[in-house]
Amino acid sequence: MCCDGSLFGFVPLRRHELEVARRHRLHVVASGRGFEQPCSALALHESSDDRTTRCTIYSERPEACRAFTCRLYDRQRREGDPVDGAIRRVRHVRALVDALRAMRLEPADFAEGGPPGKLAALKPSLAVRAREAYAELTQSLETDFSRAD
Ligand code: SF4
Repeated sequence: MCCDGSLFGFVPLRRHELEVARRHRLHVVASGRGFEQPCSALALHESSDDRTTRCTIYSERPEACRAFTCRLYDRQRREGDPVDGAIRRVRHVRALVDALRAMRLEPADFAEGGPPGKLAALKPSLAVRAREAYAELTQSLETDFSRAD
């Protein structure tokens, strides 16, 4: 999730990382200060019952990627919890993201004073579910997927 644009739109690069980033065709912005997400180095493998992703330049990934640890992974690592629970959590939150994307809803649609059209166009029960999913997603992005201190 930290590579597919769900969490970040931009990853900073150091000057000495530019050449490698360009060689791997990351979407480096014109200033060269970073690259855009979703990351073009992220490979998706989908099967009928699962979806996994993998960094295709893992050994050469930028320092910002190396340094990032989300809270969910940090808790799992510190507390020694079984990894299955964390993976279930990731899958659940991904499903929330996918459901909102399938409805073509974006964060702006849930903003106070945001565009009225999309949510209002949904069936009321669907709009309620979308609002609940968005609320759970934003909560989880903070408690599970933001940077561990
Ligand atoms: S370079 Fe690899 S670790 Fe960094 S954002 Fe892209 S896919 Fe993720």
